[in-house]
Amino acid sequence: MHLQSDITTIKGVGEKSATLFHKLHIETVKDLLFFFPRDYETFEEPATIADIQAGELCTVRGMVTGQPLVKQVRNLKILTVTVRDATGSMQLTFFNMPFLKNTLKSGQFYLFRGTAQVKGQRKKAGIEMQPAGLQGSPLGMPALVMEQPRIYKEDEYKNLMAFIQPRYSLTKGLTNLAVTKAVKQILSLCPMPEDILPKELLEKENLMSYKEALCAIHFPESREQLIKARERLVFNEFFFFLLLLRDSKAATMQEKNHTPMLETAETVRFIEALPYKLTNAQLKVIEEIKADMTGEHVMSRLVQGDVGSGKTIVAFWALLLSVTNGYQGALMAPTEVLAVQHYENILSLTKKYNLPFKTVLLTGSQTASAKREAYKALEEGSANLVIGTHAVIQDKVHFKNLALVVTDEQHRFGVRQRENLKSKGNHPHVLVMSATPIPRTLAIILYGDLQISIIDELPSGRKAIKNCVVGPSYRPKAYEFIAKEVNAGRQVYCICPMVEEGEMDDLENVVEYTEKLRAALPASIQVSYLHGKMRPADKNRIMESFGAGEIDVLVSTTVIEVGINVPNATVMMVENAERFGLAQLHQLRGRVGRGEHQSYCIFINTKENKETKERLEILNRSNDGFFIAGEDLRLRGPGDLFGIRQSGDLAFKLGDIYTDAGILKRASEAAEKWAHTLRENGVVERYLTQAENGLLECVDFTTI
Ligand code: ADP
Ligand code: MG
Repeated sequence: MHLQSDITTIKGVGEKSATLFHKLHIETVKDLLFFFPRDYETFEEPATIADIQAGELCTVRGMVTGQPLVKQVRNLKILTVTVRDATGSMQLTFFNMPFLKNTLKSGQFYLFRGTAQVKGQRKKAGIEMQPAGLQGSPLGMPALVMEQPRIYKEDEYKNLMAFIQPRYSLTKGLTNLAVTKAVKQILSLCPMPEDILPKELLEKENLMSYKEALCAIHFPESREQLIKARERLVFNEFFFFLLLLRDSKAATMQEKNHTPMLETAETVRFIEALPYKLTNAQLKVIEEIKADMTGEHVMSRLVQGDVGSGKTIVAFWALLLSVTNGYQGALMAPTEVLAVQHYENILSLTKKYNLPFKTVLLTGSQTASAKREAYKALEEGSANLVIGTHAVIQDKVHFKNLALVVTDEQHRFGVRQRENLKSKGNHPHVLVMSATPIPRTLAIILYGDLQISIIDELPSGRKAIKNCVVGPSYRPKAYEFIAKEVNAGRQVYCICPMVEEGEMDDLENVVEYTEKLRAALPASIQVSYLHGKMRPADKNRIMESFGAGEIDVLVSTTVIEVGINVPNATVMMVENAERFGLAQLHQLRGRVGRGEHQSYCIFINTKENKETKERLEILNRSNDGFFIAGEDLRLRGPGDLFGIRQSGDLAFKLGDIYTDAGILKRASEAAEKWAHTLRENGVVERYLTQAENGLLECVDFTTI
């Protein structure tokens, strides 16, 4: 078995499971080796029933008392049974598993693992999400209920306790056990990638070997080992990213301005014609951009501004400056949905203000002939603006005189992309727009090659968004509220962490949740969904009809998190809010409150413990992305490294610039110190070659 081998070389992985792995973008043995767990599960000593905390995952050793009962409720077979230990009793509920009737024997002990809830206290009002299984104990007293617990035998559970168990992101049909087994095989049969960091550096930084880290990230023997393994892998990511970044910096710092510009009447008129006044922060950034583009050196500028601070109009202004100086401009977005939104926005501005843009769209899902037409227009110069995804700077695209590339909601425009354009005779100015709140110290490390502009002011007259953090029992009320807003003509987003059934059973998924909402809301309300696994053309279609108001409620994963602007949307409801980093929730919140109407955020917190509540409450207290990210980090502490990512938009697989800020700083110092030696010894070159040959995974090149 080799790293480049097809995954079907793994025993037990046939054609059928291969297609499932493909869905997760796993083609080769290497891909699976670098498919790190998204979470870990520790099987602790069983608790007693009296010690159970509602809402917390736990294991209980209990004796089955009496016969399990099965009853039919609509299309569900519900099995209930009581178990007890020396400290108390609780009820178990299973859905559509009637066969357990024969497995669970009265008088026998089993281990049950799940999340217990107290039920039967409240009257059910409105819509009930859970199938009505249990109505509390006979006297109407609250009862402790565990739904769908996993069942273990004594020795089975003992084995699980010995290791921390990996939990992988799954897809329907692929079990965690199947992935675990396949990874185990790789670790025992396949030669591991070479460790290309020099020994001296590893010792100095007290880092684990690469090989050991790759094993331990999947099957750690202890929490300490897991932390060390992760530290090594994160260090690797940051270190090579920063090494490559240094080249980029050297390449762009002093390059002269090949496309000098002058301020034009149109750019002045445009600002005056807008229906609103630009904020002082927007005007300041526009001045900075103008100074760059009319100055001596080529521009490399990052514009950071919180969600809703109005970055788009600043980008459009810069593009207008290029175009009115007779040059071409390009605007790239991370998703097609966002590209299409910008395209339509530009078309309508062009018409409204009679702007000289001749714009073409370029995305992956366009037909070949539409693409050819766009290429032709850009090469001939009959188009002076292109908007699209990465397709915009592919090899086939030739520009007549490209002078500015803007990337929206993307962290950088890579050296490689720049080199690629240069080889075709273009030396464009680069403007990078980002809403990710990054503290200045980190920004300097990560964007050493860029000048930084900050929009630190929101347009005036925005109504503050009203937030609430509530438990799942609030859902019926939330749905009533949603129905009310829709009836008033507004629109709603509902966010779930998962795409489809079978990924993580304890979390809400978009596909099933859409069904639940359709059932819970009046039939006149249009509910549709959107997620990252859909075809781009379908995503565009859904987004377009949401933008046009044809869809009232859009259920989505966080694909919606970047850049979307539908000012009529006033409610953002987030399921399993505890699963998201606060910075990410803040981004989601930024999708509403963009228009004249009062907007609302409803964060459903399914983990009803104190820490999660306290963490989510921060969102209530602040609307400042920088502050929120910092508080989140402070509250969770550096020990809490797994499960929650703060930022999805930097290309690091494991590393998180917030939670791993310490490692980032170390990597930055080490890169500074070692850059010269490693280059001399050809280490960087070897790293790149190995990555290109599929022997290791490295940071996304397009982002460097
Ligand atoms: P972001 O910075 O998150 O990309 P957008 O550029 O999408 O934000 O702007 C959000 C909304 O605010 C848009 O509807 C835009 O038209 C509007 N907007 C931008 N600048 C101003 C301003 N100075 N005053 C009022 N509204 C503005
Ligand atoms: Mg934006």
